[in-house]
Amino acid sequence: MNKIQRGALAALLIVIVVIAALAPAGIGFLFAQRSQQHDEAQRLNTVADAALFRAEDVTRRLSGALGEIGKVAAAPCSPPYLKELRRIALTHVQVRDAGAYDRDGRWQCSSLLGAVSAGVLDGLTLPPPDWRSRDGVMAWYGLARLPGGKTSLVMGRNGFYVAADPSLYVDTLDANDEVASGVAIINTDVSRVIATTPATDANAILAVYRTARSVPSVRDCSPYVVRRSVSMPLAVVVSAPHQTLRQRLRTLPWGWLLGGVVVGVALASWAAFFFVRRLSPRGQLSDAVRRHQFIVAYQPIVDLATRRCVGAEALVRWKHHDRIVRPDHFIPLAEHRGLIQAITDQVLDTILLELGDFLKRYPEYYVSVNLSAQDLTTHRFLDVLGPAIARQGVRPQQIHIEATERSFLDADAAKEVIGAFREAGHAVYLDDFGTGYSSLSHLQNFRIDGLKIDKSFVDTVGQDAASSSVASHIVDMAATLDVQVIAEGIEHEEQAAYLLARGARFGQGWLFSAPLTAAEFIRYVGRTRGA
Ligand code: C2E
Ligand code: CA
Ligand code: CA
Repeated sequence: MNKIQRGALAALLIVIVVIAALAPAGIGFLFAQRSQQHDEAQRLNTVADAALFRAEDVTRRLSGALGEIGKVAAAPCSPPYLKELRRIALTHVQVRDAGAYDRDGRWQCSSLLGAVSAGVLDGLTLPPPDWRSRDGVMAWYGLARLPGGKTSLVMGRNGFYVAADPSLYVDTLDANDEVASGVAIINTDVSRVIATTPATDANAILAVYRTARSVPSVRDCSPYVVRRSVSMPLAVVVSAPHQTLRQRLRTLPWGWLLGGVVVGVALASWAAFFFVRRLSPRGQLSDAVRRHQFIVAYQPIVDLATRRCVGAEALVRWKHHDRIVRPDHFIPLAEHRGLIQAITDQVLDTILLELGDFLKRYPEYYVSVNLSAQDLTTHRFLDVLGPAIARQGVRPQQIHIEATERSFLDADAAKEVIGAFREAGHAVYLDDFGTGYSSLSHLQNFRIDGLKIDKSFVDTVGQDAASSSVASHIVDMAATLDVQVIAEGIEHEEQAAYLLARGARFGQGWLFSAPLTAAEFIRYVGRTRGA
C-alpha cells in the first residue's frame, strides 16, 4: 500500500470514526425527541378529549335546565314561577341563575334577584345573542352585567334563560397541568371563544383554531390539538405550555443522547481498532492467512550433468491486491507473529493441489518445502504432512525439507524433529549453507541429506579466486561427509560448468529456470525429460 492509499484510508478511517461516534447519538436523540413529541401529542389529545367531553356535558345540562324552565306551568315571574326557577337553579349545580326576559330582551325576573319589580333588574336589557341555533336556542358569551356581577354564559329560549359560570367548561382541567397550559372552548358556528383556562390568550387560540381547521393532524409536532364535537357546534383547542429555553433543555432526552454517545464511542473505537489492525502489516498478513492469499512458485532443480529436472523448490508468494509480494518481505513478520505455521500448511495444501497428481504419476520427482524454526520445534507439521501426502498417493521421498541455520535456534528440538522427518522418508537439506556462523558444526551435529550452497558463493564463481574457491571447498566437504549438494542461484553457464567440474551434482537458478507456476513447471519437466 503506497503513501497516498494509506493517507486516503486514514482519512476514510477518521470519517468513519466520526460517523460511528455521532450517528448513534444523533439517531438516539432524534428518536427520543420524536417519541417525546409523540408522547406530548398523546397527552394533549387526552386532555382535549376530556375537555370536549366536559364541554358537551355542561352544554347538555344547561339545555336540560332550560327545557325544565320551559315546562313550568305558572305564569312567568309569578311567585310560584320564581319558586320553580329557584328549584331548577338549585338542582342543577351548573346553573348559577335562571330567569325570564320579555320580547325586547328586557329582564323580567331572576331566581337570584326575584321579579323586576324589586327594582334591581329594572331597565336591564340583554344584547343581541352571540349565537342562535336553528331551533331558537340563543347564547351570550361573557355577559358581565348579569345578576351577581360575574361574567356569565347565558343560554336562553322563548323568553327564559339559564346562566352559568363559563369556567365550568374548563374547570376539570388542572390549572397547574404541565402538559396543557391552555384550554379553550369555541363555538364553531360563530368562531367565538366560550371559555378558557386562566391566562390563556383567547385571540391566539382562535387564530390557531382557524389555521388548524383544515389540518386536524394529531401527530403533528405543533403544540396545539384541536378537537371538534360531532353533536354540537363546539370545539376544543388545547395548547402545550410555552417552554422557556431552560425548560426545553431540561426536557431534552439527555439520557438518549448520552447513551448514543457511549454507543457511538464504543462503535468508533471498535472501528478504529478494526481499521488500524487491518491497516497494520500484521493485520493484513493475518487477513491473508485467513483468506488463503498465498500462491506457490516452483523453481526447477536440475541435474547439472544432464540438465534434466529432478524436482522443484516450492517458493511462497503473497498475492496482495494484484501484487505479488516476495517471501523476504513477509516471512520474517509471519515468523515473528506466529503466522508461519499456517502459511507452511497452505503451501503444502497448494503443492498437493497443484502437483499432487503429477508427483503421484512421476515418483522420481520431488518438491522441496522451506520450513521455519517454528515448524522444526515440534512434530506438528510432520503430523500434517504424513496423512496429507498419503491421501494423495505421494511418497514421503517426494517431499524434501529445507531448513536454514536460523531454524536451529532450539538445536535439540530441531535435531529431534529433523530426525523424525528423515525417519519418515523425507530428505532434509541445510539451506543457505555457508551464510551462518556455524554451518559447519551443524553439518557435523545434524544428520542431514544435503546442503544448498548459498547464492552468494555461486555469485563469486569466475570473479575472484579466493571466494569462488569457497564453493569448491563446500562441495569437497559435502563429498567427505557423504551429503548431496545443490548449488543455488546459478545464473551463468560458467558457474554451472565450474560447480559441475568440482563435483556439485545439482543446481537451481535462472540459468535453468526462474520460479514457475505449477503448469509451467510440468511443461518444463516434459521439455527436459527428453534432454
Ligand atoms: P531461498 O530458500 O534461498 O530461495 C531461493 C531464493 O532465491 C528464491 O527467492 C528464488 O526465487 C531466488 N532465486 C533462485 N534462483 C535465482 C537466481 O538465479 N538468481 C537470483 N537472483 N535469485 C534466485 P524467493 O522466492 O524470493 O525466496 C526468498 C526466501 O524466502 C527463500 O530463500 C526462503 O528462505 C524463503 N521462503 C520462500 N518460500 C518459503 C516458504 O514456503 N516457507 C518459508 N519458511 N520460507 C520460504
Ligand atoms: Ca530454500
Ligand atoms: Ca537458499
